[in-house]
Amino acid sequence: MTATEEEARRRDAGDPGHRDLFHIPPATGGDFAETAYFAGNSLGLQPKATVPELLADLDDWARLGVEGHLEAGRPWLPYHELLTATAARLVGALPTEAVVMNSLTVNLHLLMVSFYRPAGGRTQILIEDTAFPSDSYAVRSQARFHGLDPDTTVVRLAGGEDVLAYLRERGERVALVLLGGVNYLTGELMDIPAITRAGHDAGAVVGWDLAHAAGNVSLRLHDWDVDFAAWCSYKYLNSGPGALAGAFVHERHLADPALPRFEGWWSTDPATRFEMTPVARPPATADAWQISNPPIFSMGPVRTSLEIFDRIGMDALRARSLRLTGYLRGLLDEVVPGRPLVVVTPREPERHGCQLSVRIGDGRAGDVTRRLRHEHGVIADAREPDVVRFAPVPLYSTYHDCWRAARALAATVKEV
Ligand SMILES: *Cc1c(COP(=O)(O)O)cnc(C)c1O
Repeated sequence: MTATEEEARRRDAGDPGHRDLFHIPPATGGDFAETAYFAGNSLGLQPKATVPELLADLDDWARLGVEGHLEAGRPWLPYHELLTATAARLVGALPTEAVVMNSLTVNLHLLMVSFYRPAGGRTQILIEDTAFPSDSYAVRSQARFHGLDPDTTVVRLAGGEDVLAYLRERGERVALVLLGGVNYLTGELMDIPAITRAGHDAGAVVGWDLAHAAGNVSLRLHDWDVDFAAWCSYKYLNSGPGALAGAFVHERHLADPALPRFEGWWSTDPATRFEMTPVARPPATADAWQISNPPIFSMGPVRTSLEIFDRIGMDALRARSLRLTGYLRGLLDEVVPGRPLVVVTPREPERHGCQLSVRIGDGRAGDVTRRLRHEHGVIADAREPDVVRFAPVPLYSTYHDCWRAARALAATVKEV
């Protein structure tokens, strides 16, 4: 590898990111005190602001008991509204179209209750063959819920081109297209507006799982006319393990009284919530998809993190992300030749986010990631059997981290 440590340091000085806002785990091996952390696509790091903000919310409970619903510094009754505007801006939604609630797969189910409505010959759900297992299980269970055979109802396709071709040729059978905006395994960024348009042209509903896209790439869900979407907050959104998820419902569906939906007391208009009437009066916003009163101490870390994204701006982060991932790609281009390695993530900037996925020819991705961590202090993650994922995150990753990762990979996977 010809790239030098000094050059990586120089790039960091000129393009420093926001590492100081985060706790960086100490390394458990290698030459440097801090981990070179590339697993922000799996679990993002903790913002330094999380603990003090969370403690302030906890303190209100100690001080106020039940009165905190109205009198807390950030009152609990409307607490979720503190997250709505920032979540909406992050994904390019109107404030009425976004809500933070539940977890990702739960939100996918609640949204499919509304948006997967098989009828006549139009019953199929299109997903990608490399869909995250939770999404596969979710759509199969939705098919069974409607009395359909999941083996024929769920159609698994290889990628964006295959989805477009299927919609052109057999689109009249498709009820729902549900794809990952960025694929968790390959790191491929889908052409969300083009696939959404093609799905609509075929008469289908189009939903997106943005687990690997939210906080990673710029999104314009409203303008792209996406029907619904959901995302988690513990990956790029740095809100902690199992953090509350987001959901998006396009404005044109918000006031549709024919849309089926599962409801609870948080689905009703807050102005009448405590009238305790027997029939809900849902507002014409995504809030109507809420069911229960939310866990305040889980909302706090999401709020803190969304405020960081809002302050810096997703477009600025995406620009740095392309520089950082482009740098890592250039280093890997030097490491790959002669080794049993292939970078499977597309090269074109509009077809990837932060993540670069490397396929290890002789398998054993788990062995490689263990050695990267314990011998070099580099945390990447393995998707068995043969993919190692590196996600330089524009908020806190550095060019020096990328240099360490490429050097460590070169030392770990021998030339053949
Ligand atoms: C991370 C991830 C999930 C995880 O689902 P949870 O409901 O948050 O446990 C689901 N789908 C995709 C595509 C993911 O990347």
